[in-house]
Amino acid sequence: MEGVLLTGTATAALEGECVRCLEPIEDEILARLQELYVYPEQHTKAAEHDDRDLDDETSLLEDDLIDLEPLLRDAVVLALPFQPLCQDDCPGLCTECGARLADEPDHTHDAPIDPRWAGLEQLQQDPQD
Ligand SMILES: [Zn+2]
Ligand SMILES: [Zn+2]
Repeated sequence: MEGVLLTGTATAALEGECVRCLEPIEDEILARLQELYVYPEQHTKAAEHDDRDLDDETSLLEDDLIDLEPLLRDAVVLALPFQPLCQDDCPGLCTECGARLADEPDHTHDAPIDPRWAGLEQLQQDPQD
């Protein structure tokens, strides 16, 4: 089948947030492109004879021009990380207070206080003098 085989790479700026700690992420991704664009006349001709491997997905040249947008969009979406992380071993957020653990590796809390005794903590924190 005659047409134009397009190959190439594209880079795209990526903006999002870490799925664990919600830290904003900016990155660049590289997407590889490869697609055969068929002349519309060839496509019609081939379809008359044999429509086995032709479907609506066939990319067509339009007046000798190629519309790159659908190809680019698909390639970039496929290259996107499924679960973007700010760093590979992002420890996420503290379940207790929401602090970002990557910023505070030694972050700890005292054992959670039984809500029935929480009032006592208040007393303890009051200045004594
Ligand atoms: Zn993170
Ligand atoms: Zn915490």
